Amino acid sequence: HISRPPDVVEARILLPIVTEEQPIMEAVLLNPVVIICGETGSGKTTQVPQFLYEAGFGSPGSDNPGMIGVTQPRRVAAMSMAARVAHEMSLSSSKVSYQIRYDATVSPSTSIKFMTDGVLLRELATDFLLTKYSVIIIDEAHERSMNTDILIGVLSRVLKLREDMWKAGTADVKPLRLIIMSATLRVSDFAENRTLFPTPPPVINVAARQHPVTIHFNRRTFSDYVTEANEITGVCRKLEAKFGAKALERKRRQRQATENANAGDNEREGANDGAIRPAQADIEAEDLDLGDHQADDLALDVDADMANEDPEALDSDEDTEEHQLDKELGLDSDDVDAPMHIVPLYSLLPSEKQMLVFKPPPPGSRLVVVSTNVAETSLTIPGIRYVVDCGRAKERRYDIANGVQAFQVSWISKASAAQRAGRAGRTGPGHCYRLYSSALYEHHFDQFSKPEILRMPIEGVVLQMKSMHIDAVVNFPFPTPPDRATLYKAEKVLGHLGALGVESSVTRGLTGAQAQSVDGQITELGRLMSLFPLSPRFSRMLVSGQQQGCLPYIISIVSALSVGDPFLHDEGLTSERDNEDEDDAETDGKDGTRRKAFFTTQHTHSALGNFTSDVFRILSVVGAYEFAGGGHKFCAQHFVRPKAMEEIHKLRAQISNIVQANFPGADAGFVPKIMPPNDRQLKALRQLLAAGFIDQVAVRKDRVEQTSSAGVKYATSKGVPYKALGISEDVFIHPSSVLANTAPPEYVVFNDVIRTNRVWIKGVTVINPA
Ligand code: ADP
Ligand code: MG
Repeated sequence: HISRPPDVVEARILLPIVTEEQPIMEAVLLNPVVIICGETGSGKTTQVPQFLYEAGFGSPGSDNPGMIGVTQPRRVAAMSMAARVAHEMSLSSSKVSYQIRYDATVSPSTSIKFMTDGVLLRELATDFLLTKYSVIIIDEAHERSMNTDILIGVLSRVLKLREDMWKAGTADVKPLRLIIMSATLRVSDFAENRTLFPTPPPVINVAARQHPVTIHFNRRTFSDYVTEANEITGVCRKLEAKFGAKALERKRRQRQATENANAGDNEREGANDGAIRPAQADIEAEDLDLGDHQADDLALDVDADMANEDPEALDSDEDTEEHQLDKELGLDSDDVDAPMHIVPLYSLLPSEKQMLVFKPPPPGSRLVVVSTNVAETSLTIPGIRYVVDCGRAKERRYDIANGVQAFQVSWISKASAAQRAGRAGRTGPGHCYRLYSSALYEHHFDQFSKPEILRMPIEGVVLQMKSMHIDAVVNFPFPTPPDRATLYKAEKVLGHLGALGVESSVTRGLTGAQAQSVDGQITELGRLMSLFPLSPRFSRMLVSGQQQGCLPYIISIVSALSVGDPFLHDEGLTSERDNEDEDDAETDGKDGTRRKAFFTTQHTHSALGNFTSDVFRILSVVGAYEFAGGGHKFCAQHFVRPKAMEEIHKLRAQISNIVQANFPGADAGFVPKIMPPNDRQLKALRQLLAAGFIDQVAVRKDRVEQTSSAGVKYATSKGVPYKALGISEDVFIHPSSVLANTAPPEYVVFNDVIRTNRVWIKGVTVINPA
């Protein structure tokens, strides 16, 4: 009864998992929990939900009428996989649907529902038995995201409950099944953890079908790479400028002119620039056949250094080796100038643009995908033959010593490097160019990445768990338990925020530091806070933000801070440097105008609160966006990311609804257009921000320490050191801040810390403006 498009039928036969349909379904029907391991691209995400659907799961009237739920750690994957599976089965998006924080296509007739793991966690708070589902697939379990780990722990208990109720004959209750899917074989934390699953679940391994991938290490590791948030667009711009269709056409004309001028001169431009020479590297490489090795063994004795002393390792230009490369790519050898078709891929990109990676490139061009690690295991892009691995990933990290959470760019694990290399071998033999040395790989790369729960603050999930009445969090069946100190700290933070009850010293007879001990029970305030899909800090601001008519502003602020800064700061920060790559004087002038326009709108929005707060600057643009009726034109004019603005809009509506449903008397009905706050309201907002970020305060260094610069009058904040609570190094106000070009304030609170060459604070607000 399922009709698949002919090309899908053809492609499906080739997927390794399809031959495993019978053993998988048998295991699922006989066991409450099944673990499936299979290489990325083997068909887990797209096919297993289809196997279940064809066996009757998710269909009313069958033995398993509840929905098939599939969780993903990333929104991009939840959306694109729902679309793909719907397409493969010729079903509508109301039958195969997705739900993410901001958006959903689910309907009463949904059979297969893809969602982020955060969405399912929140559903558990209101429906602990997950009565709407008959089977849950936890995908990408090898990534060990915090939500995934918690989900697996909670679901192990839900399964037991559903089974007990079913055995007791409770009306309408059917057992729930759990499938855990992983791209690596390292599943012992799930399979052999008796606290989690007293009966070890069966593990089904799907045979890999991987072509050999040749690994090329750089001789040296260069630290020069693009660090800021929009690094992908930067790389795309550079590639486009050198290898895009227009650039190649221009170069061809220039070369023609030069060749005509000095006929007989066969020295070609760029032939000696030390760039990657695939063919040369081939000869030097000790090739490694990935097909016969486990990921763990990958590259252990490989030292395939390349003749590359140039940090601009992507700067390859035409020479004979490139003919070779083109031949390998299947391009006509006359076609050495085949332009690159460059597409970016990252989660902030609008969804239609994300889908471009699955479209074949224009004829005669080669597809170049510049991606975050979403392409590492979540998405398989057809036909990739060459992988350039920078060896880094941007991760949420939490410095336990500092107590500061930050996005950090750090080295990946050996397991991740193997995954990335593997992407080159899906359709044929491939090459992986690692922009780091084999020595670095050997000595500085961990075998596997650490589970997120061991690196992150966990007050958010602890609050979620408390709201599900899991009170003794210490006894929770974590796949990898966080240490007790971290759990204790989370409870303490929640106690400070008023989300958990505090026992008085009198009743417990304790003194000193122990006196204010958290009793671990969720308070009414905590219950309210847990209703919001936000970090407890932001939820707390909302709950206490009902004074002076501030609620609509606080809702906008926490929505924007949760989504992330919408401004395209790179326009102001990096276009100068990018211009060096342009050999076209025209572009320079155009960029100059853009920069001017960028600074003009920044100035406009910074005026809210009189140049004292990055948060108010965002509030200003959010308000202006609504008054303009939204739209891409507004976003282009104000240098904000359209997707971020849409998400902020949706999150505002969602939070307003939660507020209205739960705070009796709150005037929070969602009115998109809000007037700018008046001075009294700005003052109240500043106090709320200060209270919410009371542990993220920075003080100008010369105010707390005798420094040589004491008494110096600073013109701007540039280079002025601050001391932040709990951070030993000096911190600096980020160049993108409203405050970067004003006199440095004495006290500020901040939302974010990032480490590059310095420790920068972002999302800064002055506490006591003059
Ligand atoms: P896994 O989950 O095991 O990594 P997937 O089920 O994601 O594997 O992918 C199976 C195959 O489906 C891959 O070969 C991939 O290229 C293909 N595929 C997935 N999504 C799309 C899409 N949107 N368009 C074309 N092919 C796709
Ligand atoms: Mg997958």
